[in-house]
Order: sequence, then structure tokens, then C-alpha cells
Amino acid sequence: MSGFQTQMSIPTFEQARAIVEREAAKIRPGDSEPVELLLARGRVLAETVVADRDFPPFPRAARDGYAVRAADVSQVPALLEFAGEIRAGGPDAGIVVNAGEAAEIMTGAPLPPGADAVVMVEYTALRGDQIEIQRSVASGENFVLAGAEAKRGAALLARGTRLTPAAIAIAGSCGCHELRVFRRPQVAILSTGDELVDVAAEPGPNQIRNSNSYSLAAQVQQAGGDPVVLPVAPDEPRQLRKLMQEGLATDLLLLSGGVSMGKYDLVEPVLAEMEAKFFFTGAAIQPGKPIVFGAAPPRRGAPPTYFFGLPGNPVSTMVCFELFARTMLEALAGVSARKLVFVQARLTRDVKAKTGLTRFLPAILGGGQERVEVELVKWQGSGDMAATARANCYLVVPPDRELLKVGDMVSVLLQ
Ligand code: AMP
Ligand code: MG
Repeated sequence: MSGFQTQMSIPTFEQARAIVEREAAKIRPGDSEPVELLLARGRVLAETVVADRDFPPFPRAARDGYAVRAADVSQVPALLEFAGEIRAGGPDAGIVVNAGEAAEIMTGAPLPPGADAVVMVEYTALRGDQIEIQRSVASGENFVLAGAEAKRGAALLARGTRLTPAAIAIAGSCGCHELRVFRRPQVAILSTGDELVDVAAEPGPNQIRNSNSYSLAAQVQQAGGDPVVLPVAPDEPRQLRKLMQEGLATDLLLLSGGVSMGKYDLVEPVLAEMEAKFFFTGAAIQPGKPIVFGAAPPRRGAPPTYFFGLPGNPVSTMVCFELFARTMLEALAGVSARKLVFVQARLTRDVKAKTGLTRFLPAILGGGQERVEVELVKWQGSGDMAATARANCYLVVPPDRELLKVGDMVSVLLQ
């Protein structure tokens, strides 16, 4: 039953990522559905959002103050005649700023004809009926030209955009109270292992609570999928196969456990029996070295169902989801392909490692705006969930580094 690990050479982290990105690029997202704007956060746009008017729709004052002609205030102080008041949203009072005049204006109000700048109220004073301007402004200052942010008809949000609060603001300002978004992909989660009991059950002395199904479900939800948690599969091929088949009827199957070299690690052999295709079985990473990525043969006419065999150690499962599975899920959810994003931080304590594997170690990112710092949390290896729960990122140790020293700039993957 063993030996699958040795049949293929193990890709580096970058090679494994390239394979996942290649497969993700083949995915065509599925159906779409309407969603109310209030419920759209995190969903993925299945349509283009187009500006229905110019942004801003009129030359918009960016400050409270006085609309003036810049030429009138090139010498200060300058005394100008009062031409009227313009409020945001007020009726069009037909106010015009002629030479020698200033109109009181509020942020968000339309700049009146004749004016070409706004002087902030802080640099003005009332002198009887007149306004004293105490600071010059350049033509164009403190207002935004009509259409400067976007012209009517411009595409503001592309299909495949994940709806962030900023994207929702744009959709709202274009009048989209409802948006077409892609259906959330269904992601089956299948934990394997004879030692596992449900979190609600009282474990026997040699049993472990099945936490991976729950951490994976949370990660799937966070990434925009609908988790379908299957019953735990025992380390027995017939039942495992039956549950895998159930899982392969969804959009993506995430298996946990059973991919190492043990006698009862049956995930790969059973998938092989089902004529699955393997893109890699193992990657030069830690935690997560035994990770498996493949696709089950398509049912007639349907696209293949991708699967990951994630190593069962709780930290490995979580890291491998972030490194690889999230990208496939996002592709299925219709998100335009993106690279993993790493940030750079300064190391505050030495890190020793063996060479050969790219390591993703639970760490704490902190420091301040000027100096972003990172340090490892103490951990007992890839089974140590408690350490990961204290961490807020993974520190990346490149495969050729035995020692990262205090003060070194290192890469960090945010959790
Ligand atoms: P495996 O990958 O099946 O060899 O499992 C590796 C380690 O992870 C073992 O100590 C398992 O007990 C533990 N483990 C496997 N699956 C889970 C799970 N679903 N929840 C928590 N721990 C698990
Ligand atoms: Mg196991």
C-alpha cells in the first residue's frame, strides 16, 4: 500500500505553487445568483460594475470654505464680495462667482460657475459684508473636477472581484442595490483516522477529537466556500472510498489525515484505485510534506473534481490549506487568480532550521508602523495547535537557510 511517495519526485514549494496556479487557471467559475448589497461582503462579482454617471457628477468642493477665482487671491489679504451660500445637496440657486467675489461653500457642494478654487474656511475671516482671504490658492485647488475619479460608462469593478467594503461602496454609489455574484463552491471536508471522535463526544484514552474538520470548515467559510462536513472516515478502504465518492460529488474535496507513510495511511492508494490523477504527492515543505494534490476523473461532461490530501497534523492541515487549497477554492469561487502575498518583517530572535524544506512556522507579527517585527512562537511541532492559536502569521524559512539571525528581514505569510 505504501510507496506512492517515492514514485514521483517531490516538488519544491515554488514548483508545487506553480502547479496549483496552473490548475486554478483552468477553472471556469460556475453559476451566478443575485445578492443584496448588504449581504454581498466577501462574495465574488459575476458581473462588471459600470459607472452610471460621472464621478464626481459635478465639480465637488473638497473643503468647507469659499469658492473663489484664484487670480483674485494671488495677493493676500484680499477682500471679496459675498456672492451667496452653496450647501451640499442644496437646490441650484444659480450662484455665479464673478471677478472680485467669493461664495461660501460646503464640502460636497458643487463649485459654482466662475470659481476655479476653494479657500479653506480656516484662512478666511468675515469683515462686515466682505470676506477676507488670507491665503492664496492655485486654480484647481480643493475641489475635484466632474468625472475626474471616473467617467460615466467606465468599468469600476471587474468580474472576479472579491467584494471588499471599498468595492461595496463603489457598487452602492453606482446604484447597485443588488449584485450578481458567483455561487459559493461546495467544499467537502473528510477527516480520516480511527483515533478520531467528534468534538461533542467524550474521547477514550487513546482517542483524539476531530478538530480538523472544524478548522477546515472555518477556513473554507473564510475563503468564500460552503463547507460540507462528511462523517469521519475510518482507516479502512471500503468506507473511505464510499465517503470519498460522496466528497467528489462537490466542487472540491479536502481530506485530512492518512497521507503519510504509515501502514494505515490509505488516502493515496484508495484515490489511485479510483483512477485519480496526482499532480504531486508530497512537497518540500514543513509542516505539510506529505500533502497530496490531484483530480478525480471527470464524470461524463463534468469538469474533474480537484482534491487535496492534507496531512492530519492540525497545523499542517491549516498551513496547507492556506498555501494551496485556498487558491483552488478561490478559483472555483470565481476570484481572479492572485499570487500569495508575503510581507517582510525584521526578526527579533534567531531561528535555526534544517535545510532542504521551505518552512512555514507559526509566528507573531508585531512591532509598529516604522518597524515591523516577527518572532516564532515556541511550539512542539506540527501537532501543536495551541502554538498556532497564539500566532498570527507564518514565518517563512527558505530551504537553503540554516540560520536566520536577529535583525534579518524575513518573509511572513499572514494567517
Ligand atoms: P495522519 O496524517 O493521519 O498520520 O495524522 C497525523 C496526526 O494528526 C495524528 O497525530 C492524528 O491523530 C492527528 N490528526 C489526524 N486527523 C486529525 C483531525 N481530524 N483532528 C485532529 N487531529 C488529527
Ligand atoms: Mg491517520
